[in-house]
Amino acid sequence: MSATIAVQIVGVFAIMFIGIVIVVLLFVHSSSKAESSTELQKKKIEVLDKHFNEMVRIECPYCKTLYSSDRSDCPNCGADTRRIKFPKISELD
Ligand SMILES: [Zn+2]
Repeated sequence: MSATIAVQIVGVFAIMFIGIVIVVLLFVHSSSKAESSTELQKKKIEVLDKHFNEMVRIECPYCKTLYSSDRSDCPNCGADTRRIKFPKISELD
């Protein structure tokens, strides 16, 4: 008699445990889905950024070579032109 009660208690705990596992799995699944969508968004932004960088050209102030902005130095003379320098207004006239 007492053995069957113990089995019933274990059974109830087992069902509760399975229920909790299912809820946790569902939660993890949904949160991982949300994570993957933000990852996708990040990748999209990266691709756009890369494309934009490929479109932008920097002119070397020393040898006038045009090169993509993702380079940090001029491929022709090796000058460090990481910062795009705009001509000063006083130099234009
Ligand atoms: Zn150069």
